[in-house]
Amino acid sequence: MTKLNIKSCPSCEGKRIRKVRGSWTGNFKGETYTVPNLEYYECPDCGEKIYDREAMKQIESHSPAFKRAKPKRKVGRSARSATSVRP
Ligand SMILES: [Zn+2]
Repeated sequence: MTKLNIKSCPSCEGKRIRKVRGSWTGNFKGETYTVPNLEYYECPDCGEKIYDREAMKQIESHSPAFKRAKPKRKVGRSARSATSVRP
């Protein structure tokens, strides 16, 4: 298991970054979705949020972006799929 151990904010280097757990709301193409009980890091100084692998998985499992692909285009499945989610 790879666990992130974040001690300072990668954005502002603030030391007050901490792990929080709670309901997280995301937005995908105007559609909001909620991930209950998500654990992630949040910097109270700049608002930066960092998600570790597990959090990403949870977000992905709730995000409409990762739901079973709707048959939009008839392109074969791509060998690579993005592993990162960027708003
Ligand atoms: Zn920060």
